[in-house]
Amino acid sequence: MADIIQLLPDHVANQIAAGEVVQRPASVVKELLENAIDAKAETIKLLVKDAGKTLVQVIDDGVGMSVTDARLSFERHATSKIRSAEDLFQLNTKGFRGEALASIAAIAHVELKTKQEQDEVGTAITIEGSEVVAQDIIVTPTGTSIAVKHLFFNIPARRNFLKSNTVETRHIIDEFQRVALAHPSISFVMYHNGSEVFNLPQSNYRQRIVNIFGPKTNEKLVPVNEDTDVLKISGFVGKPEYAKKSRGEQFFFVNHRFIKSAYLNHAITAAFEGLIKDGTHASYFLNLEVNPQTIDINIHPTKTEIKFDDEHTLYAILRASVKHSLGQFNIAPVLDFDR
Ligand code: ADP
Ligand code: MG
Repeated sequence: MADIIQLLPDHVANQIAAGEVVQRPASVVKELLENAIDAKAETIKLLVKDAGKTLVQVIDDGVGMSVTDARLSFERHATSKIRSAEDLFQLNTKGFRGEALASIAAIAHVELKTKQEQDEVGTAITIEGSEVVAQDIIVTPTGTSIAVKHLFFNIPARRNFLKSNTVETRHIIDEFQRVALAHPSISFVMYHNGSEVFNLPQSNYRQRIVNIFGPKTNEKLVPVNEDTDVLKISGFVGKPEYAKKSRGEQFFFVNHRFIKSAYLNHAITAAFEGLIKDGTHASYFLNLEVNPQTIDINIHPTKTEIKFDDEHTLYAILRASVKHSLGQFNIAPVLDFDR
């Protein structure tokens, strides 16, 4: 019998992994912004052209990379963020899979420029479809700039599958807003085709929300604060009278990571029961802090879904504290809506 199993070459493995990590230009935006945050940037700039189809570039003033690290950063499973599987349960970084840059470089043209504070000169690397086509010593500010051009240049099926510029831009703005909301102490700017879309100075959480969603948002916000052994909550819910037919501004962040959770969303709906009409949705901007050992983030490559050890308790605390806040601000009617 002949043996037929072979190890896939790296560039093929990277392209397959890229299918999971990079669905559209917005996925690149998310990965690059998260890397900039992990690099402790104070100011992050996002430049986009043609809804990210021709360019997604993130420039940060973070710690930068050494020459060796710059080169290694594009290898699969190459990460500075964890060393062992146990580290997965005490994460304080966004990244840990070491897959994003390898994946992106497999399906685009990537130009990296990076320099560490203590170095006189930095490194520039150009990669096209996993292949390093140039590496130079350059003069560049401390920090990192990664430009991703011609996404899916070598996967026509993926490129053709992209939606209109309006739709892809919407996805990019969604990712940008999620990251910016999770990190009000970092300043962010975003440009699309040369025009400024967002300019968000360093601020507190309320100001960040208002800077993103407009000055009228300010009067809508009811603070929610809770501090228990298992869950710390901070943030805001929208007053019931501002509830809308469309689900717009609904954000959960768990340990500064945007997540989607139908179950926790239901806790909010339950807290608003009797205060808003059926079929309308209240907005919320809630930061949940839990012990990292009680969650598993590694259940999906994009990390927007996580697994909690004890969802039921979180649900109960969340519902109660939102209800309490609504009551405190004299928004809940005196009638008891509990059944
Ligand atoms: P991960 O974020 O999961 O570690 P990535 O592929 O996104 O994997 O990045 C690989 C490594 O490259 C990171 O662990 C980090 O050391 C380095 N890196 C990536 N982006 C930046 C950046 N903007 N500034 C400094 N280092 C970076
Ligand atoms: Mg990363």
